[in-house]
Amino acid sequence: IYIVGIETSCDETAASVVRNGNEIISNVVASQIISQKRFGGVVPEIASRHHVEQITLVIEEALISAGLKPKELDAVAVTEGPGLVGALLIGVNAAKAFAFANGLPIIGVHHIAGHIYANELMQPMAFPLLALIVSGGHTELVLMEEHGSFKLIGETRDDAAGEAYDKVARVLGLPYPGGPQIDRLAAESDGVVDFPRAWLESDSYDFSFSGLKSSVINYKHNLEQRGEKVNPHHVAAGFQVSVVEVLTTKAVKAAREYGVKQVIAAGGVAANSGLRASLEEAFGKEEIPFYVPPIALCTDNAAMIAAAGSAMYVDGVRGTLAMNGKPGMPLDSWK
Ligand code: ATP
Ligand code: MG
Ligand code: FE
Repeated sequence: IYIVGIETSCDETAASVVRNGNEIISNVVASQIISQKRFGGVVPEIASRHHVEQITLVIEEALISAGLKPKELDAVAVTEGPGLVGALLIGVNAAKAFAFANGLPIIGVHHIAGHIYANELMQPMAFPLLALIVSGGHTELVLMEEHGSFKLIGETRDDAAGEAYDKVARVLGLPYPGGPQIDRLAAESDGVVDFPRAWLESDSYDFSFSGLKSSVINYKHNLEQRGEKVNPHHVAAGFQVSVVEVLTTKAVKAAREYGVKQVIAAGGVAANSGLRASLEEAFGKEEIPFYVPPIALCTDNAAMIAAAGSAMYVDGVRGTLAMNGKPGMPLDSWK
């Protein structure tokens, strides 16, 4: 089974062909980072314009490098939501046109299901499975009892982890996207500022990162008031260790409580070296299999959308040409 995946929910225009849900045949990502850097973040209007310019080329390139003709495909999978509405619509409309022109079924994929299914490209999922989703817009613990079933057991009450990374990076004067910058500074640091951990209620799997972000801002402000200089390495290291400790501790607790067979991490922040090391160590001690995809499959890509779309295809899920982008799409079961 060959599925082409299309992803345009944020600022990456991407297309990919995946075979049998677990083998990447081609994977094309046109990033807008250079353009968005000038504005210090994603400007929706500009993102849409880039998608329009890139989408046809990106899909064509994915097919050419896969060495496949459109008619040799079995279905088109596209990110239906959540994301920026103008950005989603470009991908959805391109997918509808492509599906219609080639007589292929279309499947609407939830972007976060895509992030989770990036893991299927590396090793088969084992259920019950716990997914720690840490991305630019989401921070969630999701329990999966089978393919296509998603139970939310905890989520952020304010900022997402990636959002916190990007905001703190901005405070430190680092370029967009801030996650990789803070990751690098933290890894190089020879000291750590002690920032608070947001544990919330002891029985809660929810997260909160806005208090931590405020602590960083206050810390910087207070030092500057006293005419002292901020050490960005120490701040980055302190911020990161607070984020990583809370994420790891709650993921371990949830994995124990639900007796899962496998834990996976997903989303852009799962590219973080400190988080990867901490989760690997913690689940190594727990003797629970833990996996995280290679960095290029953690950040936005279309292979993950094709992977989720393949599992949906096998389950008989089909969309229609009446599909539209759903900016606030919930992560429901696809069954
Ligand atoms: P969502 O998936 O929730 O819709 P998104 O698609 O914009 O949001 P992703 O592409 O999954 O988000 O992830 C981007 C985020 O990951 C950004 O906030 C970025 O700073 C963060 N990120 C990328 N690499 C790292 C890293 N090494 N360390 C920490 N954060 C990182
Ligand atoms: Mg992005
Ligand atoms: Fe994403």
